[in-house]
Amino acid sequence: MIIAREPCLNFNHGRPSPPVRYCPSCGEVVNNSHTAEAMCSQEKHAKHRRNRNKYCTDCGKQLVKLQ
Ligand SMILES: [Zn+2]
Ligand SMILES: [Zn+2]
Repeated sequence: MIIAREPCLNFNHGRPSPPVRYCPSCGEVVNNSHTAEAMCSQEKHAKHRRNRNKYCTDCGKQLVKLQ
């Protein structure tokens, strides 16, 4: 049985101007008007991980390994 990839349901996709550049669930750019962070601190990424974000909302980096 093949399980289809579910569409991203993150609330940022439905917003006219999301407060973040990257979606924390799928890593897609949701707001181009935010400039990408060149380099995030480890602390920032650790905080995102604690918030269960799969991707960093500032630089788009994948924070958790895909199973
Ligand atoms: Zn998404
Ligand atoms: Zn980052």
